[in-house]
Amino acid sequence: MFTSKLDLNDFMSGLVKRNPYEPDFHQAVEEVAESVIPFINQHPEYIQERVLERMTEPDRIVAFRVCWEDDDGHIRVNRGYRVQFNNAIGPYKGGLRFSPSLTLDTLKFLGFEQTFKNSLTTLPLGAAKGGSDFNPKGKSDREVMRFCQSFMTELHKHIGAHRDIPAGDIGVGGREISYMYGQYKRLENEFQGVLTGKGLEFGGSLIRKEATGYGNVFFTEELLREHNLELAGMRCVVSGTGNVALYTAQKLMALGARVIALSDSSGSIYLPEGMNAEQLYWMIDLKENRRGRIAEFAEHFGCVFNEQVSVWQYPCQAAFACATQNELDLDDAKTLIKNGCKVVAEGANMPATLKASHALRGAGVLFAPAKAANAGGVAVSGLEMTQNSMHLSWSVEELETRLHSIMRKIHSQCVEHGHVEGGPVDYVRGANIAGFKKVANAMLAYGVV
Ligand code: GLU
Repeated sequence: MFTSKLDLNDFMSGLVKRNPYEPDFHQAVEEVAESVIPFINQHPEYIQERVLERMTEPDRIVAFRVCWEDDDGHIRVNRGYRVQFNNAIGPYKGGLRFSPSLTLDTLKFLGFEQTFKNSLTTLPLGAAKGGSDFNPKGKSDREVMRFCQSFMTELHKHIGAHRDIPAGDIGVGGREISYMYGQYKRLENEFQGVLTGKGLEFGGSLIRKEATGYGNVFFTEELLREHNLELAGMRCVVSGTGNVALYTAQKLMALGARVIALSDSSGSIYLPEGMNAEQLYWMIDLKENRRGRIAEFAEHFGCVFNEQVSVWQYPCQAAFACATQNELDLDDAKTLIKNGCKVVAEGANMPATLKASHALRGAGVLFAPAKAANAGGVAVSGLEMTQNSMHLSWSVEELETRLHSIMRKIHSQCVEHGHVEGGPVDYVRGANIAGFKKVANAMLAYGVV
């Protein structure tokens, strides 16, 4: 019987060998392995059944060509993917990302993270991630439509309301989901809840757009309460201006915190007194309806705009990383620590590098890992699936109450497994072990499949 203890370095070198040139995937696995290997070593059944090795190998990877015609009549060729990572506890579920820099490495890291995140939501959701190297920026609506239709013409063979339910992610919002859903319906001749993040007129859920941001703040609120702190009055920086960042800012302001900075890929704005409701409304309109740059906001309101300067440079008590992976590195972490930041929450997927996360936690900064902090988005996707199956729609109040309760349950799972005697809770360990246990136990129950 194979029961010798797992060693982190041996495990990681095997993984790197099997998956060369995939640094983001290695990073995501290492962060999990650091916390779950000591736990696995106390439970020989996980070692014997090679559960971690199996969990780090996706169930299936689909890659395909996506051809489409641009407005000038030129033929364009992109690559599409769906990484179906793990369906031990439910149908595959996770977003689609459209970004010119997208690689299989990114999707493997995201699909792996999704496995743990979806497990933490307490809902029956497996994990997948997909997308394309297509860049929606600067494309006309008709170009985006033709791309989405072509993408779905292949993807529809691999998804289904009980098989795999994609949603949005970076570069994929309501417009893209709608075009893809229209094409799916045409191809299958069925009206099913096969995508989430749909329009309200055709099976979408209220607060899906806001859910990741709201959930991020609900989770942070719980975490602060656990450590006798509160959000009200805190100076907060939020990176990004996508839906995670904008609705994190909105909920922070609703709870009495001050949002002093936001950013996009061109730079950051700084509002030392905190943003007001009118400014936030303007920013949401700029980003959601006009697809504009953050500099336009600075010009309109006469506030500070710093080109290429990240929000981590502005002294704050709470930092919300809501833009993209690896946007907060060791130097940024040191700046936050020096400025007395008390809490960092990952609204995006893996925004902190491993070194940054170690430094922050080592310095006693409360750290809310992405798997827990941003799980509200996929959780409301799960609730959209439930509403679709029941052929009904819940109200904003009903959904917000359910989201709040899910975020509280995620928080208590983290505390249960990340409790440290006499110190702050280790939320990274807590989230990883709690997320792991449920999927691992399902996999054990199935035998060797
Ligand atoms: N892309 C989001 C995430 O990273 C949402 C996925 C979903 O709603 O399925 O969790």
